[in-house]
Amino acid sequence: MDRTYLIKPVIDAEYPMIDYGKGVYLYDSEGKEYLDASSGAITANIGHGVQEIIDAMTEQAKRVSFVYRSQFTSEPAEKLAKKIASLSFPELNWCFFVNSGSEATETAMKISIQYWQEKGVMTKTKVLSRWMSYHGITLGALSMSGHTGRRARFIPLLEDFPVIQPPYCYRCPYNKEAPECGYLCANELDNIIRRMGSEHIAAFIAEPIIGASGAAITPPKDYYKIIKEICERHQILFIADEVMTGFGRTGTMLACEQWGVEPDIVTLGKGMGAGYTPIAATLVGDHVMEPIVSGSKTIMGGHTLSANPQACAVSLAVIEYLEKNKIIPEVKKKGEYLKAKLLQLQKSFSFIGDIRGRGLMLGIEFVQNFVEKTPFPRTMKVTESMISIAQQHGLLVYPAGAGSDGVNGDAVMIAPPLTITYKEMDDLIQRFKETLQQFTNFYL
Ligand code: PLP
Repeated sequence: MDRTYLIKPVIDAEYPMIDYGKGVYLYDSEGKEYLDASSGAITANIGHGVQEIIDAMTEQAKRVSFVYRSQFTSEPAEKLAKKIASLSFPELNWCFFVNSGSEATETAMKISIQYWQEKGVMTKTKVLSRWMSYHGITLGALSMSGHTGRRARFIPLLEDFPVIQPPYCYRCPYNKEAPECGYLCANELDNIIRRMGSEHIAAFIAEPIIGASGAAITPPKDYYKIIKEICERHQILFIADEVMTGFGRTGTMLACEQWGVEPDIVTLGKGMGAGYTPIAATLVGDHVMEPIVSGSKTIMGGHTLSANPQACAVSLAVIEYLEKNKIIPEVKKKGEYLKAKLLQLQKSFSFIGDIRGRGLMLGIEFVQNFVEKTPFPRTMKVTESMISIAQQHGLLVYPAGAGSDGVNGDAVMIAPPLTITYKEMDDLIQRFKETLQQFTNFYL
């Protein structure tokens, strides 16, 4: 092609042209094979080219692909909402479908504000979040995000939503260790609410495990119990953003289950359509819906393609595939296998500072000095080099932020399809080892 008409992430960069995918592998138009160790953007949870999903897609397309939710409901939408309600916490029985994770978190923000309005409290309009967090690219979602790079251009347009420190134990902002730290980072929520006045705060939003801006930062055991207790004490809703962690990525349907904490609202995306269709959802607890159901009876949100039968049928087929092949119960074991292999590699490559995460959502943070944990200066573009070298070795890994100053620091995430086999994990590790070796030869 003489020129491109498609706006790509880096406009003048050369991207390989994809031809097809099968399982955990992708093939470009030159025949090069890539092991998809990032499931795209932690999305292709059941791998590529699954026949059952293609069949479900075709069957639904033969019947009807689109109806407008203000005119019709559909069997796939009704079934999917019921199914999702049965998969998570007993209270989370309401489901609002959207098309992307950003829309799901934006909807969660609006529902939390509307919830208080329906109860006659008009002042609770702010949503608190964490420094180092990513909840989406739309302006409401960005306002709740601590991702400096993605916020930078739009700061004047963003809402002034305060943030607290993340539970970043590898670089503890207080220079302490859990549990002796007394969970200062969680208790900061209490301080900030007192300072601002809980009458102004609708909700607190958090990714159970921080993804894009932290590379699988995983809080210690009691963190979410403390967060939930603070939220309840101050009458603030707790929104768990499970767009990346949901649908079994960390070994349970929702990551929150692992901390034994039930959120008031949950957002889902990515793995929900597993890359076969754009679909996401905001799950809402009975007690949050109650004043809306007995009040205005309508959620002030909605997108043209929301709850379209085509996307819902595909998502249902993805869930059926996960269940039929008992995929989620295997994730924890697979994750432990992969983590153990990565820890082995760490012994040979001292620039691997930290390996973290749960299930098949693993983060690897790179450092200049292992003992001091000194981050590489951002100007060295270590993450970008690592991604590019990995690609040369036929391996796709996901770039993620790290480093507590929001400027320096490098990390990648390894989060292959949940269907990956042990043999394929060995292949992944071999390709990653070659990547690390080449990085050493050229950059250090
Ligand atoms: N929330 C989290 C935790 C995410 O990781 C992302 C995307 O990476 C989003 C929200 C936004 O989702 P989307 O890119 O589908 O809009």
